[in-house]
Amino acid sequence: MNGRPPGPVVHGYIRYTRGCRCDTCRKAKADYMRARRAAARRWAQSVTGGRYVADTDSHGTRYAYEELGCRCGSCTAARAAADARYYQASAGGAG
Ligand SMILES: [Zn+2]
Ligand SMILES: [Zn+2]
Repeated sequence: MNGRPPGPVVHGYIRYTRGCRCDTCRKAKADYMRARRAAARRWAQSVTGGRYVADTDSHGTRYAYEELGCRCGSCTAARAAADARYYQASAGGAG
């Protein structure tokens, strides 16, 4: 009399959160995370005008822009600033 009807155990994401690590539960977890990431990416693009924003703490760096493909304002500016320095240096210091 524990209030739960006996029946087949359904493996899946919920089971995974309870500690089960069978193939079915691990696959369900992977599918869940993939869907979450896709949703997060769509959301990020919607709020940044269609730009991809990487999930990282390193915004504002060329690393995030070039290696992670982040196109947020900070990373785009960091890349532009690095380019500007490069062109200034290659101009021979005439300015
Ligand atoms: Zn399982
Ligand atoms: Zn960024």
